Amino acid sequence: MLRELDVKEITEKVRDLCIQANHFLSDDMKKALKNAESNENSELGRKILGQLQDNLNIASEEMIPICQDTGMAVFFLEIGQDLHLTGGNLTDAINEGVRRGYTEGYLRKSVVNDPILRVNTNDNTPAIIHEEIVPGDKLKITLAPKGFGSENMSRIFMLKPAQGIDGVKEAVLQAVCDAGPNACPPMVVGVGIGGDFEKCAILAKKALTREIGTHSDIPYVADLERELLNNINKTGIGPAGLGGNNTALAVNINTFPTHIAGLPVAINICCHVNRHVSIVL
Ligand code: SF4
Repeated sequence: MLRELDVKEITEKVRDLCIQANHFLSDDMKKALKNAESNENSELGRKILGQLQDNLNIASEEMIPICQDTGMAVFFLEIGQDLHLTGGNLTDAINEGVRRGYTEGYLRKSVVNDPILRVNTNDNTPAIIHEEIVPGDKLKITLAPKGFGSENMSRIFMLKPAQGIDGVKEAVLQAVCDAGPNACPPMVVGVGIGGDFEKCAILAKKALTREIGTHSDIPYVADLERELLNNINKTGIGPAGLGGNNTALAVNINTFPTHIAGLPVAINICCHVNRHVSIVL
């Protein structure tokens, strides 16, 4: 039997999620920043990590956005196949929630209507919505507002299969070193390996929403996450790019089957404001 859900409820929740994500960083990110401060070797790095945490406290106490770049609203929806959405169109409902959240929450409107003509839409719509049909009758909504300082430093490499895991490691390190201070470190590095051109980019973006400090269920991937984090933190880029041993807080990797002739790798970099919130309706 189908369960019914009115899209008006989705609009309300999306509005609230936009405001929540931009004022309250998730506990996993807060814990990661605190850990980074306690193990940072550079005095300046420790000071910066302390200031970033002070900034988080001010943001939540005074309801000021964590960063002036309140991001493009990126959604991952897991839609139960036994759920019947009523009362309107899902995409319209999400965009209405974004419109209300960014307007009523006084969040910066960062979206232009055309990549060349560049007129601001003035309500931060449209959102970017990734949908997946899953078993069940629930709807899981994950919102990850994405700042473009770090988004602009993200990369896709279409490697040859023979380049193997060493090629993947080189690609991730190259992307991180090229990003340097521009990605507002300490960063979170989302990596997608496999699929095709667009699939690996989506894998990388979704990897950023995984709880910091958790690892892939696949043993070699979990080892790769730890090794890459270690190597990234040896680059010396450090907090704000001013030197130190905390360049990244986490490397989260998602994988997917791919074609015999290819090895796509996407690196989606996020800054220390790695915003992600989820609800289930
Ligand atoms: S990259 Fe992150 S911290 Fe830097 S300006 Fe953008 S949202 Fe803010």
